[in-house]
Amino acid sequence: MGVEKDIEKFMDKVKEKNHGENEFHQAVEEVVETLMPYINKHPRYKQAKILDRMTEPERVLMFRVPWIDDNGEVQINRGFRIEMNSALGPYKGGLRFHPSVNLSILKFLAFEQVFKNSLTQLPLGGGKGGSDFDPKGKSDNEVMRFCQSFMTELYRHIGPNTDVPAGDIGVGGREIGYLFGQYKRLKNEFAGVLTGKGLNWGGSLIRPEATGYGSTYMAVEMLKTKKESLKDKTVAISGSGNVAQYTTEKVMQLGGKVVTLSDSSGMIHDPNGIDDDKLKYVMELKNIKRGRIKEYAEKFNVTYEAGKRPWNVACDVAFPSATQNEISKEDAQALVDNGCMCVSEGANMPTTPEGVVVFQDAKILYAPGKAANAGGVATSGLEMSQNSMRIAWSREEVDEKLRNIMVNIHAACKKHGKEGDYTNYVKGANIAGFVKVADSMLDQGVV
Ligand code: NDP
Repeated sequence: MGVEKDIEKFMDKVKEKNHGENEFHQAVEEVVETLMPYINKHPRYKQAKILDRMTEPERVLMFRVPWIDDNGEVQINRGFRIEMNSALGPYKGGLRFHPSVNLSILKFLAFEQVFKNSLTQLPLGGGKGGSDFDPKGKSDNEVMRFCQSFMTELYRHIGPNTDVPAGDIGVGGREIGYLFGQYKRLKNEFAGVLTGKGLNWGGSLIRPEATGYGSTYMAVEMLKTKKESLKDKTVAISGSGNVAQYTTEKVMQLGGKVVTLSDSSGMIHDPNGIDDDKLKYVMELKNIKRGRIKEYAEKFNVTYEAGKRPWNVACDVAFPSATQNEISKEDAQALVDNGCMCVSEGANMPTTPEGVVVFQDAKILYAPGKAANAGGVATSGLEMSQNSMRIAWSREEVDEKLRNIMVNIHAACKKHGKEGDYTNYVKGANIAGFVKVADSMLDQGVV
């Protein structure tokens, strides 16, 4: 039987077992397409049904989250935690609070997380969680009551040696604080059970910056293979949250010009480039005022396009940093046609499968999220180490460790993704991430 048939048969089974979970199917298919030829050459993985096991979460938790809003009305949300794979260490992965959250989205994210965490070379298993709660438009008190209710169920399933959640879309420093406070109260224990904590109470320097900085370091490594750098490059970034903000900061530091940002309502185009003062404004707007990116356009007199994404703006390098499936086939084609030479995914699975084909056919430098945005979880891993040792490393120490991790991930992708002169970073990340998890699962028996 040919490898295509193997892939089809495997995917038929995944689709039948996980009916209607389209994002999960998409994430699994992208991995299986590049892994199946490798697995066919290494029968020990096939015999032990490693892929079948890796696509079945070790545990799925789904629970009711009741809370009372500022009007005294009862609200009900749904909470989730997917404990996907613990072969390498405690489950580790973020919590997402967004109205679109469902089982399919969290299973795709948890599945990707297993490979990503393995790529960091740190002892981290993979998981993901969250809720369909929308923090937008809620008061601080409402967010706190929600977080307390969410943790009142979650606390019994997590722990520093079991499962260590972090932030993701809609979960930043404020939410991690409320979640940590409630965990501590319920367990009567000050423990490194969450990462992304405040600096005063166990957080790591550089954790807020890590995903954006890491995805920029990945682009730097990719560009180096073409004897290029970010200096004087025009850069398009989507999103305006945590990842987008710190990608902008690092690109600026390295001499690039960031000309776009976006949110779920639309995009801004600033042809003169974002500078330190403008970035400060974005951080205040998004992290404190919790306003819309449209206000940037009004303040600095630049273009705002409602309902649009940045991919039609000419750029040399693109950093999708908002959400999944935000680059369609047409968007990818527009980027390539306008001269984009490098795409580093700060977001998880931001490019549709058809878009990925466009990038790969054009042979541009293209790093998938599981490699490019691994700096976030890697620095969470460093936060866990500091918590265990009860020490705090300096900003420079953490940044240097993060940079080395990204350099090593790039090297692993290159090693396993070599196709003649071209590096297929998707294949490289999938194989490099897989081998460590799969071998550990073999060592640990059928569990
Ligand atoms: P934030 O909540 O801080 O910011 C998310 C940004 O993306 C906001 O600008 C938001 O707009 C926009 N956005 C969210 N959903 C959509 C949507 N459906 N359509 C268009 N825009 C949208 O999240 P992060 O910056 O932390 O996360 C961004 C991406 O990076 C996600 O894919 C996440 O999984 C990934 N990631 C994050 C890591 C981290 O450490 N934080 C680690 C690794 C990956 P609005 O303000 O309108 O909501």
